[in-house]
Amino acid sequence: MSSLEKLAKTTITDLKGKKLLRQLQQSVREDGVYITRGKKRLMSFSCNDYLGLSNHPKLKKAGIDAIKKYGAGAGASRFVTGNNPLYAELEKCLAKLKSTDDAIIFGSGYLTNMGVIPAIVTKGDLIIIDKLAHACLIDGAKLSGAKILRFAHNDVEKCSEIIKKHRKNYKKCLIITDGVFSMDGDIAPTDELYDLAKANDAWLMTDDAHGIGVLNGGIGSSPNKKPHIQMGTLSKAVGCYGGYVCASSKLIQMLRNKCRSLIYSTALPPSVIASAIAALEIIANDKALTKKPLENAKYFCSLLGIKEAESPIVSMILGSEEKALNASKALEEEGFLVSAIRPPTVPKGTSRLRFTFSCLHKRKDIGMLAQIIKQRLL
Ligand SMILES: *Cc1c(COP(=O)(O)O)cnc(C)c1O
Repeated sequence: MSSLEKLAKTTITDLKGKKLLRQLQQSVREDGVYITRGKKRLMSFSCNDYLGLSNHPKLKKAGIDAIKKYGAGAGASRFVTGNNPLYAELEKCLAKLKSTDDAIIFGSGYLTNMGVIPAIVTKGDLIIIDKLAHACLIDGAKLSGAKILRFAHNDVEKCSEIIKKHRKNYKKCLIITDGVFSMDGDIAPTDELYDLAKANDAWLMTDDAHGIGVLNGGIGSSPNKKPHIQMGTLSKAVGCYGGYVCASSKLIQMLRNKCRSLIYSTALPPSVIASAIAALEIIANDKALTKKPLENAKYFCSLLGIKEAESPIVSMILGSEEKALNASKALEEEGFLVSAIRPPTVPKGTSRLRFTFSCLHKRKDIGMLAQIIKQRLL
């Protein structure tokens, strides 16, 4: 066996032993709720398609029309020939929704963070980041070469201690947090973090991947004080694909010139942009729809008598990997798809079930799920 094959074999054996091996499963999504895996049809509480927009007729039509008009792929980076006119329209929609001067679209949320953070801070600068921040914020922070210090989850006091002690030793300082935490569903104290940043010549960057479309009438997290840099994704409630940043026009202009993940990566297929425009129109005009996922999550919590949900994400921490996997399997036997989330996605000892609620779930469905959880897991 070659050394590379040996590496693969020992890595796989090691992951298996720790119950951390991940396996891809073919999943056919029919709509925002039902998924077929093999012969099984399951009701999903694991999609981030909170508004069911990924299968909305208007989004499908917009995408198909754009393919007919412009073809399947973009052909090059936005700076070469990929900057389809639809980009300007989508960026305008996003800036309007977030009440910022301007916006810029990237290939994905992951690519956004890989590009934006290194464009703003570098060696000799300081990043202060929430301990539970999403993996791609951490990856972008590492790529920047800046010093990274982490503060206890949602603890403004701890963040303040760090900034007071260390800010003076670095040139620039960026505070980074998720707006809604993807694996816990709780919301960051962004107003307080913004004030802290402002008072210490620092900037606040938020990741609103799970806020846009579903909080505060679709605007997302941070409805009051606007973080300096608000990034997010078009792949969750927006139902499509792509990442974005909303900020001042000067900052956006700088990012256009400095983000390597924008400059050196091919533009999005025009159809994806067209569908996202259609999605943002729905989000801007149907406030009742944007409220539903959170209402459903709150209903679920009330049935189980657990802490009220702050977002459409509810997590049930079970501890060991095995417990989480068994719980997920038990729910699957009952026809529900609820993924087990394990390290390194979440900290050791906090393996869990993560439920996401969609506007398409009916009260009856949520009631059945809660009843089965009570019978089999509690
Ligand atoms: C999903 C997610 C991302 C990545 O966005 P993609 O568009 O899927 O690459 C970034 N941040 C958070 C918090 C996320 O949940």
